[in-house]
Amino acid sequence: MSDDEFCAYCAGYTPCRRASCVLEAKAEAMYPQLRNRAMARALASGKCIDLDEAGILVEGTNERPILYQLPVFLGLGVDYCHVPTESWVWSIGREVKSPGRVLVAFDGRFYSSAMYECLWLR
Ligand SMILES: [Zn+2]
Repeated sequence: MSDDEFCAYCAGYTPCRRASCVLEAKAEAMYPQLRNRAMARALASGKCIDLDEAGILVEGTNERPILYQLPVFLGLGVDYCHVPTESWVWSIGREVKSPGRVLVAFDGRFYSSAMYECLWLR
């Protein structure tokens, strides 16, 4: 018997149709470089948004991002991360003053700030 008769994730017979195994296989195909597999699964399932694709870096560097801007706030029902550094977003805030940019941080700075309306918090 060869190994490919068994699912690589649950060791059941293939083709395996368990939702968790299907998602793991999709995550591996889409994000083989990510060490954080929970992040890879969240991205593959569409429940997580990569700022490197969806946002605009406004402070820091791609290796050490500090703030991103989101052209549009994409909602509460999703998670946010930065794939190149495998970092989770911790807070998202909208500037109270004009032009009301939506900014994204890797710390909790938008929680209880007078200058920002906190839109999302980890
Ligand atoms: Zn399986």
